Amino acid sequence: MQELASLRSLLGTDNVVVGADMAPYLTDWRERYSGEAEAVVRPGTTEEVSKIVLWCREHGFSIVPQGGNTGLCGGATPDQRGRQIVVSLARLNRIRHIDSDNDTIEVEAGCILQSVQEAAEQVGRLFPLSLAAEGSCTIGGNLATNAGGTQVLRYGNTRELCLGLEVVCADGQIWHGLRALRKDNTGYDLRDLFIGSEGTLGIITAATLKLYPLPVAQCTAMLTLNSLDDAVKTLSLARAGFGASLTGFEVMRRNCLEGVVRCFPEQRLPFDEAGLQSPWFALLELSDNESEAHARERFEVVLGNAIEVGVVQDAVIAESVAQSKALWHLRESIPLSEKIFGKSVKHDVSIPVSSIPAFVEKTNALLQANFAGVEHVIFGHLGDGNLHYNVARGTAYSEDELLAKQREIYQIVHDSVHAFHGSISAEHGVGQLKRDLLTRYKDPVELALMHKIKQALDPDGVMNPGKVLQES
Ligand SMILES: Cc1cc2nc3c(=O)[nH]c(=O)nc-3n(C[C@H](O)[C@H](O)[C@H](O)COP(=O)(O)OP(=O)(O)OC[C@H]3O[C@@H](n4cnc5c(N)ncnc54)[C@H](O)[C@@H]3O)c2cc1C
Repeated sequence: MQELASLRSLLGTDNVVVGADMAPYLTDWRERYSGEAEAVVRPGTTEEVSKIVLWCREHGFSIVPQGGNTGLCGGATPDQRGRQIVVSLARLNRIRHIDSDNDTIEVEAGCILQSVQEAAEQVGRLFPLSLAAEGSCTIGGNLATNAGGTQVLRYGNTRELCLGLEVVCADGQIWHGLRALRKDNTGYDLRDLFIGSEGTLGIITAATLKLYPLPVAQCTAMLTLNSLDDAVKTLSLARAGFGASLTGFEVMRRNCLEGVVRCFPEQRLPFDEAGLQSPWFALLELSDNESEAHARERFEVVLGNAIEVGVVQDAVIAESVAQSKALWHLRESIPLSEKIFGKSVKHDVSIPVSSIPAFVEKTNALLQANFAGVEHVIFGHLGDGNLHYNVARGTAYSEDELLAKQREIYQIVHDSVHAFHGSISAEHGVGQLKRDLLTRYKDPVELALMHKIKQALDPDGVMNPGKVLQES
């Protein structure tokens, strides 16, 4: 197409992808959404991003920013109209600067999360954001979705890990907001507007992130539990016993781990036959400033007490770093092994921790009353009140039959979340998957303010239209 010639001369032919080569960019990770685009462009600098935005405005295209394309809500997938340009940030992947004294790292948006973790480790620091997609998701995507992951309990979401941003705005201007300050009260916090905006307000091109001391040792334990109630009680005991050293508390229903072992037979659960029958399992991580042996001793004291009072049935404390990794690997393999249950109806929800057992009991019962035989695949970051509450076809339905009921299942689960004062999106965002649900569950004043913000920052609707908010 003639119009693309100027883009090619701007970015180089290799960085303007068209035709069949666009395929990997046009479908989301879960293969739920696919769309059309005029081209996928791969800028290498912030200035190029700015020029692309101006080009898109001039030629009447809207923009879909894309990082690692691991998002779970279809936010990085273009629509069907073919009048969008996908802007892949993958080439913007430099670590610009590390300031060990200030405990900060400045990185470009296309940096893979794992490479940021590694760069921090090389200077003896920790970048604590950690999630199963860390080998392919990007910092830009993490910021745009305000990703959570396994360390939120101790370090917070991506939002809490970010001090400054560089953003290409919807009119092509570059906002140089790469401040490395922990205190800056000079008015409205634009950084917090762009974080979690899923590409609908601007394109994040770089960020200044917080670093932390590397823990001397980390140790992991896996527990068997009789109920979710016991999991919540164990979390309280662990918080009281470990304080800020408790860096992870994950919970998993038995069928999740059975799925992992079926899918990945090389992985093993470290329990005897009785333990394997437990309905719930928990994974705890302790970061310690002395040694692994010290971490293990602390685990023994607190978990010994939890077993004594009857809230924990059995506990395996990792004997080595390799064993800790193997235990985490079990947990991290759950999303990948879920394919074994067939396509399921997924919910990423948060509820006040104290209400989680009642929420699960009530919601499971409601679903069985309406769709007897569906399977509840439940796991998540209990320490953050975040559950991945997924509904699989079980014995009752075919994959297609289940997906045909998706809308009703969503409504039952999300109404229940709402009734328990929770959120229908804990960490994955809204994208196109949950966009229409916001009108049902968001406070109307809040939703109206969100539309006003969109209107103020992107009045022509060029930034990722149809994601998060309905197009006006
Ligand atoms: C196996 C697996 C496990 C996961 N585990 C977790 C988890 O534990 N916690 C969690 O929170 N998420 C999890 N996710 C979801 C996903 O990894 C995160 O949402 C991640 O932050 C997305 O990053 P990405 O680079 O792949 O973004 P993409 O998928 O490319 O994009 C996601 C959204 O961000 C926008 N975007 C991307 N880059 C930019 C940018 N530079 N500027 C502006 N907007 C941009 C896109 O337009 C889109 O709306 C998981 C995903 C998978 C596949």
